[in-house]
Order: sequence, then C-alpha cells, then structure tokens
Amino acid sequence: MYWDKETETMGRDELEALQVQLLQKSIRQAGSSPYYGRIFKEEGITPESITTLDDLGRIPFMTKDLLRDNYPYGLVAVSKEQLVRLHSSSGTTGRPTVIFHTGNDIAEWAGLIARCMYMTGVRASDVFQNMMGYGLFTGGIGFHYGAERLGALVIPAGPGNTQRQIMLMQEFESTVLHIIPSYALHFIKSLQELHIDPRKDLHIRMAFLGAEPHSEEIRQRIEDALGVTAYNSYGLSEMNGPGVAFECTEKDGMHVWEDSYILEVVNPDTLKPVKDGEEGELVFTTLKREGMPILRYRSKDLACVYTEPCACGRTHRKITRIKGRTDDMLIVKGVNMYPVQIEKVLMSIPEVGSNYQIVLDRKDFNDHMTVKVEISGEVFTGEMQQLDHLKKTIIERLRSEILITPKVDLVEPDSLPKSEGKAVRVIDNRHQWG
Ligand code: AMP
Ligand code: ZN
Repeated sequence: MYWDKETETMGRDELEALQVQLLQKSIRQAGSSPYYGRIFKEEGITPESITTLDDLGRIPFMTKDLLRDNYPYGLVAVSKEQLVRLHSSSGTTGRPTVIFHTGNDIAEWAGLIARCMYMTGVRASDVFQNMMGYGLFTGGIGFHYGAERLGALVIPAGPGNTQRQIMLMQEFESTVLHIIPSYALHFIKSLQELHIDPRKDLHIRMAFLGAEPHSEEIRQRIEDALGVTAYNSYGLSEMNGPGVAFECTEKDGMHVWEDSYILEVVNPDTLKPVKDGEEGELVFTTLKREGMPILRYRSKDLACVYTEPCACGRTHRKITRIKGRTDDMLIVKGVNMYPVQIEKVLMSIPEVGSNYQIVLDRKDFNDHMTVKVEISGEVFTGEMQQLDHLKKTIIERLRSEILITPKVDLVEPDSLPKSEGKAVRVIDNRHQWG
C-alpha cells in the first residue's frame, strides 16, 4: 500500500500531534548515543519535557562539523549487531560523514521512496532504469530498494556507458528513469548523435531528477528532449538520502514527508524561523530512525516552505526548488549570487549546449569571472557572426541576472569536463597564490 492516504492527507493539527509523539520517541532513542546522551544531560532534555513542536528549539542544532567530530560511532544509538548498513555523503571537501542504519531504517526508507514513486504514478508494471551511482552514495541503492518495494522491475544500470544504457532501454522497454540532471543532458546529446528519437525509439514516460541543484530550465530541456514528465527529487544522506522531499503531479514544489521528518526553515544568520514563502536554510529532524537519529540538522540548503494544502490533496508541506547552498553562494566583486542563477540564464538560450563552467580568478586584487559555455552542435558549424551575436546575448542576459559583467568563452560541444556523479560547476582559483 503506497498510497497511504490517511497519513498523506491528515489534517495539520493531527499531523503535528503525530510529530510531537514521534519526536519524543526519537529523543528517547537518540539518548542512547554517546553524543546525545551527554547533550541531553547538559541541557536537561528528556522526552517528556518536549511536549510541543516549539520545544524542539531547546535542542541544539546538528552540523556537518559536529557529525565529523563524533565520527564514526558517536551518534549511533543501537548496538553494532543491530546495524546492517552504512552510507556516506558525497562530500567534496574534508572527511565524508557516515550514517548507519538498522534493518528497520532501511525498510522505512524504502517505504518512503516507494511512496514518492507511487505519488507520481509509477506502478508495478513499470520498468525502472536506475542511472544513479550505486555504492556509498545514497542515490542508487536508495531508489533501488524503493522501486523494488513498489514492485517495479528494476534495472540497476548505474551511471555511464551510454550505449549500454540505450540498449537496456530498448531491450527491456524502460518506462521510468532516475538520473542526475547534468548526466541527463549529456545522455540526451548522445541520443541525438546516434539519431535515436526517444519519442519513437524508446518507451520512457517519466524521469526523476535529483542529487544536485538544477533549474526549471534544465527540467524543461530534459522533458522536451526525452518526451517525458520529469519530477524533482530531494534528499541528503544525513536524512537517509533521496525520499525526503518529492514533487507530486502538480509539479509545484516538493512535499516533505512530515511523518518521518520535522522540517524547520531558519534564517542562516540569526537561526530564527522564517515565515512561509521566505527563503531560509532547511533544518531536518529524523522521526523514525533507530540506528542514528539526528535532530535539527542544518542542511545548508536554501529554499522556501509553503503550508497551504496542495491541489493533490496532500497536507505535508512543500518546499520550492533548492536555490543553492549557504556554502555555494559566490561573492564576486562584492555581489552575491548562486551558480543556479547562471544556469537558469544559460539553459533558457537554445543555442547553448549541455554543459558550462564558472571560473573565478583574482588579478590585481580584482575578481574576474569567466563563464565557459558549450555551444550546441548546430551553432558550432555556423557562422562566426552568429557566434559573436550569441556571446553578446549571453553576456547581456547574465548581466541582468547577476548584476556583474562576466567574460564569456564559447567552447566546442563536449569539451568541458563531465562527471557521472554530481557536476562540478565552479572552479574558484581566487584563494590560490601566484
Ligand atoms: P549527499 O548527502 O551527498 O547525497 O548530498 C545531499 C545534497 O545534495 C543536498 O544537501 C543538496 O545540496 C543536494 N541535492 C540533493 N537533491 C537535490 C535536488 N533535488 N535539488 C537540489 N539539490 C539537491
Ligand atoms: Zn501535492
């Protein structure tokens, strides 16, 4: 039963009462870990002393640094016999964080993902090609278990090897894909080169896009090129991985499963809650995890939350697309901006190809921004004049979005480095010497 109608549509009061009840349980569980055992004692926190959601504010925030300080077992709340799996964050800097799960945790997580997939219309008759990385990263295995739970036929393809991906899609008539957006753009280009028309030659009807920030414009491109409906899928390994928030068929924000997570949205400077519709940092609390409960985790992801009931009937609050992370905000010549703003502009220009890179340098105490932009195959073989015009258009549109004038380098299709995992879009050389 994945259309858990009662839970997904319960009234806000009832849902919040359920959250308090589960929170007390989660606090009891967390208290068995060395870290929370100590913190609760210091702060005088007991499950009984938390009787409203506002009381949550008494619990200190958890951060990536604190997770690292307590690495590896400081937050584990069960005996080692009960743990069945670990995953880690994809962390590009420093030591990755590790999350431990019991068998029940894995089952709960699979249930959440099955719920997400069911919500968008995936059924047991679907063939699900999972083009996400398997391994320590949570994207691949997370969805794998969820799709199996739903009863879909799962092809555990993993990323890369485009020719084989296409062969699998053709042979087994895959209907649903799960893919990192930057890899999807690359995959689409390969289809075009091989003269494969997804609408005629393949059976895909739906794609789940997740694991990295992407703009509405990227979704649009992927939908148009593949002839699919694409849904945004959000999660973070500290909260299991995918399955934390997911778009319903309204495609207007992602429902956060509030019977498994408490979501707070706070101003990252003052740490005070922001109002509905105001941008803030997402803070999550696990409500059901046994192996490693985490309370008030500061995700660094920025978005807005909305409480109004959704036209789909679900009452769980929705978050907007992730605008960026507090740590990927760029300050260039004193102006704040997020890489996704640049992406939005580039991807709205049809002559722009599928990849780009932002390079920052500092010369003579001045910031310099270069945006390297792959152009599409057709423009590449076109006239010089056309390229000049395209460059001017890109510069103008970027200037009106980010308020500074970057240098734009148009580069050949396929010439920028690509990755099968999360894309690296920004190269910041400003802190290097020489
Ligand atoms: P990891 O813990 O390594 O899986 O990385 C989780 C992070 O990936 C999140 O905190 C977000 O910054 C990012 N992320 C995951 N899904 C999305 C999404 N749908 N949109 C934007 N960012 C995402
Ligand atoms: Zn909805």
